[in-house]
Amino acid sequence: MRTQVGIIGAGPAGLLLSHLLHLRGIDSVVLELRGREQIESTIRAGVLEQGTMDALAEAGVGDRMKTEGALHHGFELAFEGKRRRIDLTGLTGKSITVYAQHEVLKDLVAARVAADGKIFFNVSNTSIHGIESDTPSIRFTHEDEEHELYCDYVIGCDGSQGVSRASIPAALRRDYERVFPFGWFGILVEAPPTSDELIYARHDRGFALVSTRSQTVQRMYFQCDPKDRVENWTDDRIWAELHARVDSLEGHEVVEGRIFQKNIVGMRSFVSTTMQHGRLFLAGDAAHIVPPTGAKGLNLAVWDVRVLTAALVAFYEESRTDLLDAYSETALRRIWRAGQFSYWMTRMMHRLDDASPFEQRLQIAELEHVTTSRAAATAMAENYVGAVAV
Ligand SMILES: Cc1cc2nc3c(=O)[nH]c(=O)nc-3n(C[C@H](O)[C@H](O)[C@H](O)COP(=O)(O)OP(=O)(O)OC[C@H]3O[C@@H](n4cnc5c(N)ncnc54)[C@H](O)[C@@H]3O)c2cc1C
Repeated sequence: MRTQVGIIGAGPAGLLLSHLLHLRGIDSVVLELRGREQIESTIRAGVLEQGTMDALAEAGVGDRMKTEGALHHGFELAFEGKRRRIDLTGLTGKSITVYAQHEVLKDLVAARVAADGKIFFNVSNTSIHGIESDTPSIRFTHEDEEHELYCDYVIGCDGSQGVSRASIPAALRRDYERVFPFGWFGILVEAPPTSDELIYARHDRGFALVSTRSQTVQRMYFQCDPKDRVENWTDDRIWAELHARVDSLEGHEVVEGRIFQKNIVGMRSFVSTTMQHGRLFLAGDAAHIVPPTGAKGLNLAVWDVRVLTAALVAFYEESRTDLLDAYSETALRRIWRAGQFSYWMTRMMHRLDDASPFEQRLQIAELEHVTTSRAAATAMAENYVGAVAV
């Protein structure tokens, strides 16, 4: 089997890359560990920056996002019983859209299928070969048969647990990591929205985020011990915790409803450099992870794909390799910017058990600053909407 670009992973990065290449007449094949139903129903990200919306619209998969997604022009910061608004559009001229990642995936899979794109779901034993030669290949098993896909380039879009990153020799790689001593307890709730905009709350009991999915389904998170168990949290205990952390002194309360999903995720910051070696390139979570506080993970994956698409188009249309050669350096500029912002926001909003009372009190000083100084609020808003120069 042969194609021009072999892509491992049908997450947002792999599917969007495959479709953008197709629109420029470049063939690709996508190999995915899981089934179509599974990838289309895994609940993850939901905040899309303007650049991500533009990329999806450019790829012709933005229609449902535009009609069903909710445009947000700001968000609220809650602390000390107060709620203060960060006016994203007023400060930056840009907004964000709340549209669930699994809906983005449904749109991308549908577009690939409609274009006769080749996606192998439920593959196993994926391995990468010959990346230092001009004829790399990917071996995999599909429906009990072994295959070898020959290609010009292999793109590892296989997330944090994939095989691609390890195919770059350890001697050439440098990994940077910070594991946080807390996680997020996430719930999906049948209820009307608590607020028109997202609420990020800092409380002595820990962080909480009230986010929305639609007029009838809401997504909420609160800081927890990453080793805690979902079974330890009854619905009553969850609501008590959310009320304590988010309800304001002015009487705004979290709206309760039927909880139909609960999960716990760990939090870490991670960047692996280099993102390329020979004919192998990494994109998205395969190369970097951010804590979800700044809502950057999916957006960074889309950014990598945009950089990589331009580089591959330059190669196929003009035989240029300069953009491919510069890929890792170009992508990493934005990755470190977003990594710093996500880390900063995480440290400002969470209960830091490893911090002194002095440092914990500084969180309040910082929140006062970003919610009263236009310059500080603008810096936060620019980072949040992704309107930063890199
Ligand atoms: C709870 C939570 C909330 C989040 N919230 C946000 C948010 O609000 N905003 C935001 O921007 N980001 C958010 N993120 C992060 C975002 O979901 C990820 O950054 C995004 O999914 C990265 O896309 P990707 O395509 O790089 O990787 P993935 O989505 O992880 O896709 C990788 C794919 O590769 C497949 N794969 C793995 N190994 C192999 C293999 N060996 N062979 C073949 N296929 C393989 C996997 O099955 C998977 O489908 C959140 C994440 C979590 C967990």
